[in-house]
Amino acid sequence: MKWVNSLAFKIISGILLIITATFGASILWIYHSQVQEEHRHHVEKDAGIIMELIRKALEEQLVIGMPLEGVQTLIDTIATEEGIKTIHITGKEGMVKLSTDRSFLNYRFEKGKEKGCIVCHKNGVVSPGVTLVSTVDYSGERIMRNVSPIENKKACQGCHSPDKRYLGMIIVDSSVSLVIAHIKTLQMELVVTFLVALSATTLFIYWFSAIYVKRPLHRLVETVKAIGGGNLQARAELKGRDELSVFGASINEMAGQLERQVEEIRAKGYEIRALNALNEIITTASKYLSLKDVLEPTLIVITRSLEALEETGGRKVKITGGIFLLNDETGELLLSTAHGVSPDSLGCKGRAASGDCICGLSAQSGEVVATSYCLADPRHTRMPSVRPEEDHAHISIPLKSGDKVLGVIFLHFSPPGYQPQPSDIATFTSIGSYLGLHIEKARLYEKVQELATHDGLTELYNHREFHRLLEQEVQRARRYPKEFSLLMMDIDHFKQFNDTYGHLSGDEALRAIGVIIRKHARSVDIAARYGGEEFAIILTDTPSKQAEEVAERLRSSVAGHTFSIKGEVASLTISIGLTSFPADSDTGEGLVKVADNALYCAKSSGRNRVYWFAEGQKK
Ligand code: GH3
Ligand code: MG
Ligand code: MG
Repeated sequence: MKWVNSLAFKIISGILLIITATFGASILWIYHSQVQEEHRHHVEKDAGIIMELIRKALEEQLVIGMPLEGVQTLIDTIATEEGIKTIHITGKEGMVKLSTDRSFLNYRFEKGKEKGCIVCHKNGVVSPGVTLVSTVDYSGERIMRNVSPIENKKACQGCHSPDKRYLGMIIVDSSVSLVIAHIKTLQMELVVTFLVALSATTLFIYWFSAIYVKRPLHRLVETVKAIGGGNLQARAELKGRDELSVFGASINEMAGQLERQVEEIRAKGYEIRALNALNEIITTASKYLSLKDVLEPTLIVITRSLEALEETGGRKVKITGGIFLLNDETGELLLSTAHGVSPDSLGCKGRAASGDCICGLSAQSGEVVATSYCLADPRHTRMPSVRPEEDHAHISIPLKSGDKVLGVIFLHFSPPGYQPQPSDIATFTSIGSYLGLHIEKARLYEKVQELATHDGLTELYNHREFHRLLEQEVQRARRYPKEFSLLMMDIDHFKQFNDTYGHLSGDEALRAIGVIIRKHARSVDIAARYGGEEFAIILTDTPSKQAEEVAERLRSSVAGHTFSIKGEVASLTISIGLTSFPADSDTGEGLVKVADNALYCAKSSGRNRVYWFAEGQKK
């Protein structure tokens, strides 16, 4: 029944109803007009009946001698009961014989004097029936006058002409003002009826338009306004299946499409922002080649850019966290760097086994592991005893190079309750993968660096790196200014050692001496394998006197060391040439030369000794 739901049907129905109401009112009007007309006839008819009654009474009186008082009483009663103004009964000559108005007794209605008389004597002949006429009575009041002759029916019609047979007249006067008042009442009733019908129709139209047009339209306008205001979830309420409902459904469809498109744009916007964040992270990480340099600034950028990313998504969060690196040998996660949290504040105190707690689970599975409320998550086995207000969301991101997990970034989101969306998880995964690759790259770089700058056998700096660091130290010492010393060492009779124990044992001995050198050098000192079985140490911020002590300790330490080779025990000694900046030379080249000369002197003066040039002996 599609057409029943049509708005047009409803409007047409409404219009039809209005027409019906108007038509009904018109019918009512006509009906009342007829009533009015009928009333007039009624007056006339009533008068006729009354006069017939009176006539009968008079005829009775004439025939059986009924007393005139009886007729008088009769007309008085009729006048009172029927609301008639006056009833007169006249004789043949027009003289009033009986009247409800006694002042009319003996009053004579004359031809030409009264309008009624004109009627009675129309054409000189008394009309036999009842005649109704509108006239003015003696008091000036408008009246409806009914005049009817009283006929002597007993009179011989042969002798008497018709007008001679009439004995008199019955005159019945009805007040026109009463009739008019009655008509006015009827008119008033009609107007009231019409107004009531009109009001009812108007109310109906209002109700009809409110229910079927105004309210649905208002709802649609409100919905469109809400959608225009940005509430894309707003939907028009659909009732029925008329055009407005169809229109509402179209608006809903449009809002749905808009919502989907905005969601897509938002997702794209998020992707772009996420890519920007990732780009910032990559740019930061790429600035640093070594692992020790890269982790801390990258972690700070990760927390900062994720905070900014979440903020653009309407979520204000504070992010802190840290980076665990996996120790390949022990399989343990060790905290490498942290931002906003101290290792002591962590339940694991910066050490967690793979599979242990949330970070361990992430390292074990190689997946992002998230928890919105740490305190309520049983997986958080290493949770420190924190207050409820310190609760936070925790995200652990594996740092992966291919399928290999190298470590885990953990991020604390405050306040708690943060639930990462799939797009967030994708971003975290990308960060983890990129940083994993970068860690791998940094480790390779460090390995290459190590190979390029260190001696493979002793793990001390190599010749080239030694010279670079020596120049650097010279520059530094000049700038501040500072003193430093240089020791050049050569193993005594090493050729012989090689010849005795073989080259491989010689290598072992070189490695062992490297260990002894490292033991005696501070972390700020620069120890290098200068070449073959020669070593050099730059003792930073060390004047010659203290340097001699270090050299002496080193010498005696080597001399006292026992080298066990294939079950045999061997020993070695070293000779050391010492020189100091700036006392002996203020250039790297000069220092090496002086130290070399001192070493030569140490050799030539018997070996297993430390030699330096006293003041004035410098060469
Ligand atoms: P001295 O210095 O006391 O004058 O005597 P020396 O025997 O040590 O003489 P020299 O410094 O000329 O000899 C260097 C020897 O060191 C030669 C070589 O066999 C040995 N040598 C140099 N480099 C290596 C190395 O990498 N491994 C081993 N095993 N031996 C090396
Ligand atoms: Mg040598
Ligand atoms: Mg030697």
